[in-house]
Amino acid sequence: MSACVDPVVGKILAGWRYDISSLAPEMRGDYEAHFAACDHCRSRQRLHRVIDVALIVLASVSAAVFLLAFGVIHHFAPKHTLILELAALFGFALSALIWLIVAVATPAPATVVDVAKVGARHVHDRLPAEIRERLPEELRMKLTGS
Ligand SMILES: [Zn+2]
Repeated sequence: MSACVDPVVGKILAGWRYDISSLAPEMRGDYEAHFAACDHCRSRQRLHRVIDVALIVLASVSAAVFLLAFGVIHHFAPKHTLILELAALFGFALSALIWLIVAVATPAPATVVDVAKVGARHVHDRLPAEIRERLPEELRMKLTGS
């Protein structure tokens, strides 16, 4: 892997986990320029966003499994049902809390929205021209950015 082209800026970005989405637009310019120039930081940024999204997905799956466990216990009502149900609900609550923390503390939601936008743009570009023309102007602006 190549080294950072400007270690001072690189260190600041590392401290933010390469997330500049919460910066004011006028302060972002220098960092965006660094990302454009620096392969090292760009690949680190991509890695951190993958980790964020993986955490959200894991927390979602974990919450779903605990909820499923609760449903199964409730349905079959084995011995010690109450204790098992409480354990399953506690697991669900913990997963939901982790999900919330990841969603608030990382730019994962914005990353998911960006991926969805890129996907929507691909679909838009493949549509036949006559259908594309019928899309509302506002929607077309959002998809193509022009
Ligand atoms: Zn760098």
